[in-house]
Amino acid sequence: MIGNKTLAVPGPTNLPPRVARAMAVPLEDHRAPDMGEFIVPLLQDLKKIFRTETGHVLVFPGSGSGGWEAALRNTLREGDRVLGASFGQFSMLWVEMCCQLRLNVTNIDCRWGEATPVDAYRRALEDDKSHAIKAVLVCQNETATGVTSDVAAIRAILDDLGHPALLFVDGVSSIASIEFDMDGWGVDVAVAGSQKGFMMPTGLAIVGVSAKCMQLIAARSLRRGDTDIGYGYWDFAAMLNANKSGYFPYTPAMTLMRGLRESTDMLLEEGLNNVFDRHFRLAEGVRRAVAAWGLRPCAIDPATVSDTVTAILVPEGSDANDVIKAAYRRYGVSLGGGLGAVAGKVFRIGHLGWLNETMVLQALGGAELAMCDAGLAFAPGSGVGAAISYFNAQKPANLLAAE
Ligand SMILES: *Cc1c(COP(=O)(O)O)cnc(C)c1O
Repeated sequence: MIGNKTLAVPGPTNLPPRVARAMAVPLEDHRAPDMGEFIVPLLQDLKKIFRTETGHVLVFPGSGSGGWEAALRNTLREGDRVLGASFGQFSMLWVEMCCQLRLNVTNIDCRWGEATPVDAYRRALEDDKSHAIKAVLVCQNETATGVTSDVAAIRAILDDLGHPALLFVDGVSSIASIEFDMDGWGVDVAVAGSQKGFMMPTGLAIVGVSAKCMQLIAARSLRRGDTDIGYGYWDFAAMLNANKSGYFPYTPAMTLMRGLRESTDMLLEEGLNNVFDRHFRLAEGVRRAVAAWGLRPCAIDPATVSDTVTAILVPEGSDANDVIKAAYRRYGVSLGGGLGAVAGKVFRIGHLGWLNETMVLQALGGAELAMCDAGLAFAPGSGVGAAISYFNAQKPANLLAAE
C-alpha cells in the first residue's frame, strides 16, 4: 500500500515519535547503581495520572489482562465471593477469569451496550449482610461496546451500606484518557495497560493499588493457607518492596519504562484535564458523524457513551465485518471489529491516545469509503462534514488564544 496506514482501533493506539525516540536506546542494566534515580520519580509521577497520593502504582511486564489477574491473585483466596457484571467482551472476560481462578462469582448478565448495573449492584450488596462479597468489579470503559460506567456511584453504594468489599476497576481503556480518580473514588486496584491511553506499545500492566489493599495483603500474608490462589508472578508486596529503592523483583521491561517516562511527561505537560477535554471533543466529533450517517452507537443509554471508543451498529441485514475488511484491504484503515456477542453487528472507531481532529477525520473518511464499498445506505461525506462542523465550532481555548 502506498501511504500511511490509519490505526483507528481502541488499542494499540498511535505511538508518538517522541515516545518512539525515547525507546530507541541501547539496552540497559536494570540493576545499575543509578537506576533508582530514574524509576522512583517515574513511579511517583504515575500516581498523578491515577490520581492517588496514598496508594501506589506498580508496573509489571504484561498486558491489561495480567493486571486483572494481579488484582485477583493478591487479594482473594479460592471460594471468595466476587460481584461482577458482563455487558461486553472485557467485563465478561474478567468475570470468566474469576471463575477460572475458582472464585465464587456473582455475575450479573446485562444486555451488551448497557453499563455496570448500579441498581443491581446495590441490591446484591444490600442482600450480602454477612459481607461475604470480598471484591466488586467495575469495567470503567467497556471497549467492546463503547460504554462508560459510573465508578463513583459504586463507591457511593459501598460507603452507604458500610460494605467493606474491595473495589477493583478495569481502567485499561479509560485511565489517562478520561476522568479517573483513584483516591476520590476509593478504588483499591485500578488496572491499566501501556497500549491505550499511555500511547505506548503493548507490554506493561500498570496497576494502581490502594493503601487499604496493601494493608490487607500484609495482614493476610501472615495467615496464608493452602486455599490461597497464590500471588505468583503478580506479587504486589514483593514488587512494592523492590520498587522502594527503584528496583524490581525480576527483569523489568526497561525499554518500555523509557517510553513510559516520555508518555507520562506528555500527559502531565498537556495537563490531565486538557487530555480529558480533548478526548471528549474528538469523541463528540465521531458521535456527530455517526448520527449524520443515520446510524446508532451500541451504547444503549446516551449518557454512557465512551469518549475513547465508539461502537457503531450497522443496519439489520448488513455485516459490519464487510466494512472492516474493505477499510483495511482497500484503504489501510484499521477499524475495531465486533467482539463476541456483537460480532458482525458493530464496527468500532478508537479515538484515544495521541490523536487530533485531523486524525479523527482520516478515520471517519476511511470508514465512509468502506461503508460505500459495503453497500451501506448513507450520504457520503455527511459524517466527515458533521465532524468538521463540530470541530470548527469547538476550537479549544488555546487555539483561540493563539489567533
Ligand atoms: C484492552 C482491554 C483489556 C485487555 O487488555 P490486554 O492488554 O489486551 O490484555 C481489558 N479491559 C479493557 C477495558 C480493555 O480495553
